[in-house]
Amino acid sequence: MFVDKAVINIKAGDGGDGAVSFHREKYVAAGGPDGGDGGKGGDIVFVADDSLSTLIDFRYKRKYAAQKGQNGSGGNRTGKNAPDLVIKVPRGTVVRERESGRILADISGDEPVVIAKGGKGGKGNARFATPTRQIPKFSKPGFMGQEYEVSLELKLLADVGLVGFPNVGKSTLISVVSAAKPKIANYHFTTLSPVLGVVRVDEGNSFVMADIPGLIEGAADGVGLGHEFLRHVDRCRLIVHVVDVSGSEGRDPKEDFEIINRELKNFSEELSERPQIVCANKCDMATDEQKDEFTAFIRDKGYECICISAATTQGTSELISLIAEKLSELPPIKRYEPEALPVSFDEEAGKGQKFEITRGDDAVFYVEAPWLEHIIRTVDMDDYMSLQYFQRVLRTSGIIDKLEEMGIDEGDTVNIFGFEFDFVF
Ligand code: GDP
Ligand code: MG
Repeated sequence: MFVDKAVINIKAGDGGDGAVSFHREKYVAAGGPDGGDGGKGGDIVFVADDSLSTLIDFRYKRKYAAQKGQNGSGGNRTGKNAPDLVIKVPRGTVVRERESGRILADISGDEPVVIAKGGKGGKGNARFATPTRQIPKFSKPGFMGQEYEVSLELKLLADVGLVGFPNVGKSTLISVVSAAKPKIANYHFTTLSPVLGVVRVDEGNSFVMADIPGLIEGAADGVGLGHEFLRHVDRCRLIVHVVDVSGSEGRDPKEDFEIINRELKNFSEELSERPQIVCANKCDMATDEQKDEFTAFIRDKGYECICISAATTQGTSELISLIAEKLSELPPIKRYEPEALPVSFDEEAGKGQKFEITRGDDAVFYVEAPWLEHIIRTVDMDDYMSLQYFQRVLRTSGIIDKLEEMGIDEGDTVNIFGFEFDFVF
């Protein structure tokens, strides 16, 4: 079974907790605090693996969690950082946050990509000793690791995508120009999963061709198989449109050409404008009249057209040269850029909102404000703009004034729905 979509849950490790400990030594009466910090939780890292060609593994295992960082301990020992959890995916997998649909990463390169960050370790009590607080009896728990439900989508990395009706000879073509060995048979829909083949042009010059399952009329509306596979052409730099010029199945090749192009257009306007070479296949079975008529029709529309016979390999080396020449003028394969969280910076969000602040035994200022929860969840604290916004909201709501009124000091901890930060004026 070919699986090119999956949804999984990933959870980076929480940070280890800081320790509460006091130095003990013979003959030393009251040792100082020496509780170490917790270690960092493991990240969730994605990496491309070329031995994988589908996302089928993710149908069976859907939950991935990295380990928690080790807790700190006495003697100022910092806990160990937890190892990263590496998830291998086929090259070309696009990872999105399911809820917002935004792209988190395109796993197309060789570099591993961190998708969910492990939480930082909590501070041990040794960190909280001040001249006025010599015996801090508290430490901090580790920060939570990021958790996402992500959707994975395989978007093949191919320079050239073969499209066309079933049975026109796409699989035959890729099998004669590359080492790929797709199923070839004289019935429709033999190709159920895309097949990639490396086509060698000459020394040090090659390109990747993808055999995409046959497109049929209505495919873009979800009828039949084609629609599911159209997204694999998405990244192709060049489309090679294969047509049975002999009309061996009783259809008119000109009509075939129009129908497929309409399907591409229905799926995506952009795709229909992708450079296209038309390949009039099965010319061994076609009459000269058929070939001339079709070629003229296509050239009239402004496309390049080449007559070949995949079965006898007639014209295939010319086709390869033509493709290579075209590719040399085209931009590289599309890579998707990560998208930032869409935050609506509503400056008035904090005005007139209610809140309550209490000081815990652990000296932390706990802020209760249900309306803030949504903002906390959507704001990316690693992003400077977002953080600025968050601070403005705290100010307009009066939370900062209240904290100051309660005597907050620089470096004191504020906790809002489990999100903790050090207060700075
Ligand atoms: P696909 O569905 O587009 O992948 O088509 P296939 O490659 O599976 O080919 C369908 C049928 O057409 C097979 O029986 C092939 O042997 C045959 N075929 C493919 N190319 C040619 C060709 O150039 N000439 C002739 N005569 N038959 C071909
Ligand atoms: Mg096929």
